[in-house]
Parts: sequence; C-alpha cells; structure tokens
Amino acid sequence: MSFDIHILGTSSARPTGSRQVSGSIVVCDEGVAVVDAGEGFQSRFAIQRRRMKQSDKSQIKVSRVDVLCLTHGHLDHTWGVLPWLHTLSLDKRKKPLLILGPTSGEVLESVLSNSDLPENTSNSDLLIQWRSWHQLGGTSQQLGFPVRWILGDVKSNRWIELLPDSDSVIELDKMPQPDGWSNNKIKPLPTNHTVPSCGWHFSSKPKKGKFNRLRAAELKLSDAHRAGLARGEDQTLEDGRILASDEFRSPDSGGISVVLSGDTSEMSEGITSLENCDVLVHESTFLEDSSERAMNYLHSTASGAARTALSGGAKNLVLTHFGARIKDTDELLSQAREQLGESKTALTAASDGDRIHVSDLGSVTHHYWGEQGWSN
Ligand SMILES: [Zn+2]
Ligand SMILES: [Zn+2]
Repeated sequence: MSFDIHILGTSSARPTGSRQVSGSIVVCDEGVAVVDAGEGFQSRFAIQRRRMKQSDKSQIKVSRVDVLCLTHGHLDHTWGVLPWLHTLSLDKRKKPLLILGPTSGEVLESVLSNSDLPENTSNSDLLIQWRSWHQLGGTSQQLGFPVRWILGDVKSNRWIELLPDSDSVIELDKMPQPDGWSNNKIKPLPTNHTVPSCGWHFSSKPKKGKFNRLRAAELKLSDAHRAGLARGEDQTLEDGRILASDEFRSPDSGGISVVLSGDTSEMSEGITSLENCDVLVHESTFLEDSSERAMNYLHSTASGAARTALSGGAKNLVLTHFGARIKDTDELLSQAREQLGESKTALTAASDGDRIHVSDLGSVTHHYWGEQGWSN
C-alpha cells in the first residue's frame, strides 16, 4: 500500500516556458485518481505514461483511472477535462468514471429547486461548466461510458448528482467513493478561494502487520496457541514459558495520508484541521513581496503555505502553482524554510513531471524529473 503523486503542471493561471497549468495524478494500489486537469492535461498524462514505461517503472494505465477530483472551476484547472473525456471515448472506455467537484450551497439549492442560479454565481462555477460540457457531448450516452457528475457543498457536506441524459438531478446522502476502493478513501477539505473550492485528501487504512508463521512452525506450536497468538493474545505453554503475541507480528503500518490543496489562501480550515498528513502539496502562487495580492486573490505565498503545513502537522510540504514571476524556486524555498524554522517538516518545490512517492510506512521520496530521467 503506497501512494505515488505525479505532478504534471506547476504553473498558475497560464503556461510558461517550462511549466504547464495544473493537473496531478494520485496512484494507489486500488486505482488512480486525477486531481484537476488544466489545458493540455491529456498530452501531459500521455508523456508521463511514456516516461514511466521507458524507465521501467510500473505503468500508469489510463484504464485504471476511477475518479477525477476537481478543486475548483478556474480554467487553469478544468480546461483539459472535456478533450480528455472525448479521448477516453475514442479509446472505447467502458469503465465508469466518477467526477467530483465543489460548488456553493446556494447553487445546490437552486439546482434542486429548479430555480435560477443566484445572481452572484461565477461563470467559473463548476455547475455552469459541467452543463456546457454536457451540451458539447460530455454525457454517458454520448461518450459511451458511464460518467457520474457529483457536485457538493463541501462545508455542509451536501451532494447532488447531475443526470444530463435525463436532464434531472438527485440529492445523495453522501459523497460517493470510487467503485472498488475499500482500503483507500477520498475526502474533500474546505479551502478559501474566489470561487467554491476544496482540497483533496487521500488516505489509506492502517494495515495489520503480518503473522510470523515460520516462527510459530519452528516452535512447533499447537493450533490453539497459534490461533491465540494470531488473535493478539499472549500464550502460556505447558512448560510455563510465556509467548508474547506482538513478537509474532511485524509492526502495523499507520495508514498514510496525502493532500493536494488546489488554489487557496493560507491557513484554510480544511488543511489546518488535519490530524495526520504525510504529504501536503500546497499552492504557492506568490513570493513574500506580493503577500497583499495573495490575500486579495485568495492565494498563498510560500511562507503562507509553510504556516499552513505547520498547523496541519504536515510531515512533508511540496510547493506548486507558481506565478509567472517566479523563475526559479530558490527564493520561494528559502522564504518557506524560514517560516518552518526548527520544525521537522521537510520542504521541496515541484517541477512538471516530478513524482512524490509515499511508502506504506510513510517514508516520502521526491523524485525530480530531468532530462536524464528521475533523480532523488
Ligand atoms: Zn490556479
Ligand atoms: Zn483558482
């Protein structure tokens, strides 16, 4: 059980010479999730698949993608979705795809009561985009595979499913999880941005350590003793020796957890209230000299991302979503590092194509993409 995060775009708002707009992939043992898909996403996904194949790494098959999680409706996070869905259709996909995204409580209300959208609804609201994508062929019927369009108000945890083929909508009692996932869970985290937004939290269940059959066999234990030890009960043998059950089991893995923030101001409550976070991939659109802009546009500075990581107890902070003014990440890193001070939080900055690997025991490696392939 492990997570691999592929960061395929690290630029904010628009592509630059070396950075593309947002789009990430989270690979776990039960399937693959895509988090945001800005312009050109499918090409970047194809390139990353080729790189993985060429370097003999395990492949990320498109057919393993179960879910698309959108953080918000700004185009640098969504403009690649519809073209990618069309390609999945051309590739004769049959497997269902779950699409999850945030909207406001007012928008949900108006959809459910079939009334006009609130006047202040942004053009970037996911509901408006999804409706236009449906008109452009983004429905299960036209794509040829089942797509579930799930919109939620994250703060009140209310969810609806749009059914464009029957032009209707239903309210759900909870946010659905991807088909077939039982050990890994996806959860939206409330964030603050200029449109309804959320971060996405991926966690795996803690796993029990393995029972040491070999040792039990060597000691020629009876079935009853063996079963008792396997259940975690210490056993007293006939000769009076006591066998401690924890000596017959390798340590449990704690369950791992990673968060991709999306666009947000610093200290968003969804992230600061985390209890366990191995990796936080957080936006860092601005440097310290633009902290006022960050505040006005509900984005974060590098040091703001660091403050958020500290209060959410993140063990590793990975910075991404850099404004066009940020040419290299040295200054950004030093501002964030200064904020982290003596804390044990590890800090890196992402480039397009980087992979962050989280092992089942929670150890984290940032593999940087370069012309020679990945290096640590
Ligand atoms: Zn953005
Ligand atoms: Zn945004």
